[in-house]
Amino acid sequence: MIDPFGRQITYLRVSVTDRCDFRCVYCMAEDMVFLPKKDLLTLEELDRLCGAFIRNGVTKLRLTGGEPLVRRDVMWLIRSLGARIGNGLAELTITTNGSQLTKYAGDLFAAGIRRINVSIDTLDAQKFTAITRWGKLPAVIEGVMAAKAAGLHVKINAVALRDVNEDEFDAMIEWCGANGFDLCLIETMPMGDIGDRTAQYLPLSLVRARLAQRWTLRSTGYATGGPARYVTIAETGRRLGFITPMTHNFCEGCNRVRVTCTGTLYMCLGQDDAADLRRPLRATEGNAVLDAAILEAIARKPKGHDFIIGRSTAPAVKRHMSVTGG
Ligand code: SAM
Repeated sequence: MIDPFGRQITYLRVSVTDRCDFRCVYCMAEDMVFLPKKDLLTLEELDRLCGAFIRNGVTKLRLTGGEPLVRRDVMWLIRSLGARIGNGLAELTITTNGSQLTKYAGDLFAAGIRRINVSIDTLDAQKFTAITRWGKLPAVIEGVMAAKAAGLHVKINAVALRDVNEDEFDAMIEWCGANGFDLCLIETMPMGDIGDRTAQYLPLSLVRARLAQRWTLRSTGYATGGPARYVTIAETGRRLGFITPMTHNFCEGCNRVRVTCTGTLYMCLGQDDAADLRRPLRATEGNAVLDAAILEAIARKPKGHDFIIGRSTAPAVKRHMSVTGG
C-alpha cells in the first residue's frame, strides 16, 4: 500500500475498544459517553479486518484503545493475531495503561508479543490518581514488573504536562534505567473536547534542553518506524524518545493508519477524514470488496496533521484520543 505521497503503509494501529478503566485528564472527559456495544466489530471481525491489512502489506500491528486489555476475551484476538507472526506479520505489539498486566503478561508473551508500551506519566501515587482520575499506581507498577518477568521489553510512555510531571523526568529516567526500560516523552495533542488544554502543554524542546544539563544525551540512528526521535542516555544506557507532534511535525515519514473498534479507518491521527470498513467487511465473505475499500482509503491519506495549541481552545479534531488510540 503506497499513499499519494509515496509513503509505504506497513503499520496498522487497532483500537479494540473505546472504553478504559482510567480517565486521564488530557485524554477523556470524566463523563465520557462510549459507543453502544452493538456498533462494535466482533473479535472475529477485527481479526478478519487485520488479516486484510496484512494481506495488503501491513507487517506491524499495535493493539490499543481505550484500554485494550479491558475488552472481554481480548486474549482470543491476541492469540489469533499472534499466530500470524512470521506469516506476513513481523510484529504484534500493544499499548496499555498496565492495569491488567499482572493478569495478562504471561499470556501476552505466550501469544508472541515481545514489546509493549505502558503509559505512566508519574511515579508519584497521588499524582497518578489525579492524572488518571481512577488509576492506582501500585497495581500498574506490579503489572509492569510482571511484564518484565515474563520476558516482555517494556517502553514507558509519559505525556509531558506543564506543572504536573515536568519536575519528574530525572526520576523517571533513573527508574527506567534501573529497570531496563526505555522511556518516551510525548507532547499533548489537541484531540477531544476536554476543555482548554493550553495550560498543560509543555514543549519537549524545552524538556530536552533541561535534561541535557543533567544527562549525556547521545544521538542515535535508532528508529522504530514511528514518530519518536531517540537519544541514548549515556549514564543509564537506555533510550529516551521524544514524540513532538507540536514542536516538530512528524508526518513526513508516516507509515501508519488507524482503525477503530467500529471498523472506521482513519488515515491520519489529526484529520477527520475516515473510511467505513464495517460495511464492506460485512457485505461479503470474500476479500475483494474489503480490499478495494482499504486501497481506496489509502489513496487519499493526507499529507499530515495541523495540530496547533494556543490559537484557540477548540481541539484540532473532535474525537478523543481514546477513539483512535494514540
Ligand atoms: N489505554 C492505553 C494506554 O494508556 O496506553 C492505550 C490508549 S491511550 C489513548 C494511548 C496513549 O495516548 C497513552 O500513552 C496516552 O497517554 C496518550 N494520550 C492520550 N491523549 C493524549 C493527548 N491528548 N495528547 C497526547 N497523548 C495522549
